[in-house]
Amino acid sequence: MELASWVRTVSFSTLALGGLLAAGCGKTATPGPEGGQPATPASATDDHSGWWCIEHGVPEDICAQCNAKLAAEYRQKGDWCKEHIRPESQCFLCNPKLAEKFAAEYEAKFGTKPPKPAG
Ligand SMILES: [Zn+2]
Ligand SMILES: [Zn+2]
Repeated sequence: MELASWVRTVSFSTLALGGLLAAGCGKTATPGPEGGQPATPASATDDHSGWWCIEHGVPEDICAQCNAKLAAEYRQKGDWCKEHIRPESQCFLCNPKLAEKFAAEYEAKFGTKPPKPAG
């Protein structure tokens, strides 16, 4: 008599949560004492992160998702997408064309396409 053996494979499917990655482009503003040494700029050339928010695909100085104060200002102006909690004028979810608009701004400035946000 022969023994038949078999393997039962159970595969588990793992659900990865594509959660919202909040934060990530926080800026560290160190209020230096007067007369202190000048702040040395971080890596000069390739790092545009000071101007560009890679995560949100807009210039940092208008990135309401990184700056709660800005967000409040946009809210006041009525430029606000309640659904996605960001200014309507920066809501790529409602208006994907906006992403291209900002990317074009980046390209005009640096002559290269903006870095893609991770994920
Ligand atoms: Zn941002
Ligand atoms: Zn929206």
